[in-house]
Amino acid sequence: MPIYEYRCQECGEKFEKLVRLSTSTSEIECPKCSGRRVEKLISAFSTRTSSTTAASASACTPSA
Ligand SMILES: [Zn+2]
Repeated sequence: MPIYEYRCQECGEKFEKLVRLSTSTSEIECPKCSGRRVEKLISAFSTRTSSTTAASASACTPSA
């Protein structure tokens, strides 16, 4: 089962959870406040990769 990262919109708690493919976000419960208003986070890996690519691309751009 994949691990997804979630953030609670009630208390701001971030947590990881093992979920089945059939599990929807509305079934995820915050471990801290038991709130049901959680959002799935985009993985930090893809965010870091895209920002690194943008930085190196601008550095390689000729000034003339
Ligand atoms: Zn919470």
